[in-house]
Amino acid sequence: MTAAEGSELRFDGRVAIVTGAGHGLGRSHALLLGRRGAKVVVNDLGGALDGSGASSGPAAEVAELIVKNGGEAVASTDNVATPEGAEAIVRTALDAFGRVDVVVNNAGILRDRSFGKMTVEEFDAVIAVHVRGSFLVSRAAFPHMKEQAYGRIVNTSSPAGLFGNFGQANYSTAKMGLVGLTKTLGIEGARANIKANAIAPVAWTRMTETLLPAEFESRFTPERVSPLVAYLAHESCETTGEVFSVGAGRIARVFVAEGPGWRTDDLTIEAIRDNWEAVMAEQPYLPTTLGQQAGASLQAML
Ligand code: NAD
Repeated sequence: MTAAEGSELRFDGRVAIVTGAGHGLGRSHALLLGRRGAKVVVNDLGGALDGSGASSGPAAEVAELIVKNGGEAVASTDNVATPEGAEAIVRTALDAFGRVDVVVNNAGILRDRSFGKMTVEEFDAVIAVHVRGSFLVSRAAFPHMKEQAYGRIVNTSSPAGLFGNFGQANYSTAKMGLVGLTKTLGIEGARANIKANAIAPVAWTRMTETLLPAEFESRFTPERVSPLVAYLAHESCETTGEVFSVGAGRIARVFVAEGPGWRTDDLTIEAIRDNWEAVMAEQPYLPTTLGQQAGASLQAML
């Protein structure tokens, strides 16, 4: 191991916004970034799991804890889901610390319901916090990151979005939407050294404590997710546009891949039926990396 490999990754001089940092995963991300020297904006609306209500308590408590641990932090209770709220969160970072280097879009709510019973309100409310909120906060920070030619954005997807989950049509739509947002941000941020990645975590929090088996509590801690968020938020991380499954200390890249495919100059319904196995084949899949995938796919169609 070289000296550089062994050195501690620090965030001194960096300013990080963590949304939804009053509880669970966001709290753990904020505490870790604060311990490693980042100045942290601890944002949390302080509402219930379904997004109802509000309280300044959770954000203030986490910000106080960071300061008590010797770090720097300010609390924000603004709502990520409104343009004014998102602008205010970034303004808080600029006013308190003069810049913004890292945005961790983590705020989230649940309104689970089976598809046949889901209301428009339940669908919209979940999209608003996860997708709109991540878009709005990133959008408010983006010009500042561009100007300083540096930025790190970490979005929070979910296995439920990547692979689907019963009762979560709203949530899985939102969480897969964040994959698209992450990939396009990775492309558009490249010239300004702005990297965007997403995590798909599993952790024991108020969001999952009634869903996960009780024995998961001690193993699936938020603290076993946050180091990945911090790594993706660090200047030494060159990766962009990727999604990572993370839980209980295990990390894996999750990628959307296009199979080798099957083509003909005489496409008929029956030809598709007769070649369905080739259409469904997974190996060898086309390149999956940002910027190469679309070209490889077009090439295969010619
Ligand atoms: P959590 O409920 O403990 O944390 C979510 C936080 O977001 C809460 O503190 C809440 O007050 C805050 N929040 C909600 N709406 C907000 C808004 N409009 N503005 C600002 N803050 C708001 O749950 P968690 O498990 O820590 O979830 C964190 C993120 O991780 C969420 O995006 C969630 O969907 C995602 N996630 C969690 C798991 C898991 O296993 N816990 C799995 C996949 C994805």
